[in-house]
Amino acid sequence: MSYRITLIPGDGIGPEITKATAKVLEHSGVKIDWEVVEAGVAALEKYHDPLPQEVIDSIDKNRIALKGPLTTPVGKGFRSINVALRKEFELYVNQRPAKTYKGIKSLYFDNIDLIIFRENLEEFYSGIEHYIDSSRSAAETIGIITKRGSERIIRYAFNYAKKHGRKKITLVHKANILKFTGGLFLDVGEEVAKEFPEVQFDHKIVDNMAMQMVMNPYQFDCIVTTNLFGDILSDLASGLVGGLGMAPGANIGDGVAMFEAVHGSAPDIAGQNLANPAAIMLASVMMLEYIGEVKAAMNLEKAIAKVIAEGKNVTKDINQQNYVSTDQFADAVINELDNLN
Ligand code: ATP
Repeated sequence: MSYRITLIPGDGIGPEITKATAKVLEHSGVKIDWEVVEAGVAALEKYHDPLPQEVIDSIDKNRIALKGPLTTPVGKGFRSINVALRKEFELYVNQRPAKTYKGIKSLYFDNIDLIIFRENLEEFYSGIEHYIDSSRSAAETIGIITKRGSERIIRYAFNYAKKHGRKKITLVHKANILKFTGGLFLDVGEEVAKEFPEVQFDHKIVDNMAMQMVMNPYQFDCIVTTNLFGDILSDLASGLVGGLGMAPGANIGDGVAMFEAVHGSAPDIAGQNLANPAAIMLASVMMLEYIGEVKAAMNLEKAIAKVIAEGKNVTKDINQQNYVSTDQFADAVINELDNLN
């Protein structure tokens, strides 16, 4: 059996790191038939549109995509491609794991293993903003939280925890001040939690949560929260484990998912075979898990972790003095993977 998956190489270092990832996946035991489509600056040059219909059609058909970093072209009239893709496919879950990997410098070295589930479509990211007068003396952003939107992200987090044997969900909110929006999200969380007695549930106010995550991240397991808080806390969590170098992410909707690295397109090192492909490779681990290829996902993650831990074949961002190229890193991962399979 072969999976047909959309591949968007992306901008900057995107083509290099996605190529390295596709090569590694050839050794995962899972057959993937890539449909390569272009978005971002590459597409703008070719099709005069950073998000051509061809990309939408491909994801619509294949329902799974691996996406390199995309730059939204500077200038008026260009919507954020990432936001447009989330909206187009109603990708309401942003799933961001934060894990410690041996070999990566970080504040904490022992087994942090957190997952943040961020609501991806509602609240302050729906783009309802305006100046309230012509002199631009005040501006207003409207952040709507709905019961349906809250329920589906919270339910996704609980189902994930149940399926993957995760112990606990912490819902993060600011319901003491945002009594309506925050209050609604918290109320829905308490209701949904009743359906999952096997998963522990608690909730925290966002400011306290930020402090607790820094002081003792080990008390948390899965975190579910609204869009803006999720945006901030997921980067905070990445910071706890050494930054964005090893940070994958997934945007998931009903029956459709898009996997990506959290970092940007790194134009400063593009085309030099210097980029670290680990984050997008870890995104492909999430993708394998999502399609049910759990063994292949585990092995690929083990292989990446081993190469990083050994430190002999790592890219420049990890070791400035003694580093290898993007391709050599991929070859080292392939070597480990072949040993495991
Ligand atoms: P964008 O506008 O696409 O977000 P950016 O340059 O503002 O791009 P990043 O692309 O995240 O933001 O880059 C921030 C810094 O981290 C840059 O110096 C970049 O070279 C470095 N960087 C980001 N990703 C990687 C990677 N995968 N490997 C090595 N260095 C990286």
